[in-house]
Amino acid sequence: TEVHDNADLAALVRTIPDFPKPGIFFRDVSTLLLDGKGFRAAIDRLIDTFDPDAVDLIAGIEARGFIVASALSYALAKGKIMLRKAGKLPGAAIGVDYVLEYGTDRIEMHVGAVSPGARVLLVDDLIATGGTALAGVKLLRGEGAVVSQARFLVDLPDLGGAARLADAGVASGALLV
Ligand code: AMP
Repeated sequence: TEVHDNADLAALVRTIPDFPKPGIFFRDVSTLLLDGKGFRAAIDRLIDTFDPDAVDLIAGIEARGFIVASALSYALAKGKIMLRKAGKLPGAAIGVDYVLEYGTDRIEMHVGAVSPGARVLLVDDLIATGGTALAGVKLLRGEGAVVSQARFLVDLPDLGGAARLADAGVASGALLV
């Protein structure tokens, strides 16, 4: 696919109704990931929306956030942090419980992954209610990180996540709404 604008990127994300529960419209980025040029364009465009010099580390939320974080980390030669589902990290970890659009969950990170004052950019594939991202912000800030920016491939603005992040002092952005 030749990607000329964000409408082309939007066309690469498919919507699957009633997954994982009735009434949820799942925005599936797997079809964007299948398209090499589309994915590269998406990552390049995300990079254009923030100042890499103001970022020390990139934190990705398991699992699709890892894909975004990894691409940004490679492109910018910045380190990355895995914010993982409960019980996955081998070292000493701290966690935050949170409510999401379809259930409850917990994310954890390794103690010592960030030095106090490290400027961390939080990324995920999608922001809906913002519960997941806010849990990530809380976790990172609890370890002394400075978290003032977050980026997503997709925002579902009706669910209010970006507004909640803004209330928490985090400026967010997404390629697709
Ligand atoms: P939330 O915490 O409500 O902002 O939900 C965001 C997290 O759940 C992200 O990690 C997304 O991958 C996932 N998610 C929530 N809602 C959807 C949706 N409608 N389509 C795809 N992923 C979603």
